[in-house]
Amino acid sequence: MNATATRIGILGRGQLARMLERAGQPLGQHFEFVDDPSARFMSGVEVVTFESENWSVRDVERAAAGVPVFPSTRALSIGQDRQYEKELFDRLGIATAEWSWISRGFELPDAVERVGVPSIVKTRRGGYDGRGQWTLRTLADIGRVAVELGERSAIVEQLVPFRRELSIVAARGADGAIVYYPLVENHHERGCLRITLAPARVDERIQSSARTMIRALLVELDYVGVLALELFEVAARDGTSTLCANEIAPRVHNSGHWTIEGSKTSQFENHLRAISGLPLGDTETLGPSAMLNLLSHLPELRAVLSVPGAHPHVYDKEPAPGRKLGHVTLRADTESELARRLDELSLRIDISLPEAVTSWIRSTSSG
Ligand code: AMP
Repeated sequence: MNATATRIGILGRGQLARMLERAGQPLGQHFEFVDDPSARFMSGVEVVTFESENWSVRDVERAAAGVPVFPSTRALSIGQDRQYEKELFDRLGIATAEWSWISRGFELPDAVERVGVPSIVKTRRGGYDGRGQWTLRTLADIGRVAVELGERSAIVEQLVPFRRELSIVAARGADGAIVYYPLVENHHERGCLRITLAPARVDERIQSSARTMIRALLVELDYVGVLALELFEVAARDGTSTLCANEIAPRVHNSGHWTIEGSKTSQFENHLRAISGLPLGDTETLGPSAMLNLLSHLPELRAVLSVPGAHPHVYDKEPAPGRKLGHVTLRADTESELARRLDELSLRIDISLPEAVTSWIRSTSSG
């Protein structure tokens, strides 16, 4: 790699690629996008990155044609395979739900014998936003899920009785420097992220435990770029909380979108700085933020903009049920102000928030 790369190739043309491009323009970077696995970059890019872990390593290598790829294809191959992820967590001593793997549906009864119920079956590859997943509430569910799984390989993991879902995003430079964003709190709807609250209210012990986990992953993978780690916060025996790793994403992550307006340096800019050999930027937050995903249909822009501190990001995609069409970042100086603004936003754009978020609004907005 040149000391600092200015011509960046991105595999993919979705919203993450667009937000990377926007973050790179002030750095004087130029972008070429390829979204056809059989195509190659044409304009002499100096470094290649990807916006999704669904690219096969072979297609990435073919498209890059010898140009360095960051994060590495090793990180990609782990991030796209739930079994490799679990093996890596185990090897690094990162706590994760008890799990087992199967090579096809009919092996499910044996795996459930080891792991127990309730548990979750997840296809090894290709699942996202809750797709390719089945919950086994009782043993009676096994037969149906085994048939639906068919010839696909999968992991089976214990259902974690989590208090909250959290995630941490960090960036590592080619020189080994690491910067961390704070833990954030995520709320899902039908397996898809609906809202992120940043930073999460957690004590320093939990914050540092998350950093230790993601640092171990970054160092083990000799990682260059932004990495996200999704976590469950679970109750420990003594009533305190502890963290349990769910999965990694070897790329910029939806739970980091708030950093565009909410942090001194966005995850997109830090990813580009990392992969192009530039110093990493300050990850200090500018105050509390919320990020609301716009799913299925877009609200009136006028309604979003009428809420102080609201920043819409529209992705220019065709509406479809459940599809992420954009997001709104909401900023405020205090948590109580943020809660009031979120309440106002949800009313103005007519979105019903997850129950845990409305109760957070109730308890926080009067502060
Ligand atoms: P994933 O695709 O692994 O991120 O899973 C999607 C969502 O399913 C997560 O955000 C959780 O809400 C839920 N989930 C996944 N794995 C587990 C688990 N082991 N226990 C409880 N909930 C889970």
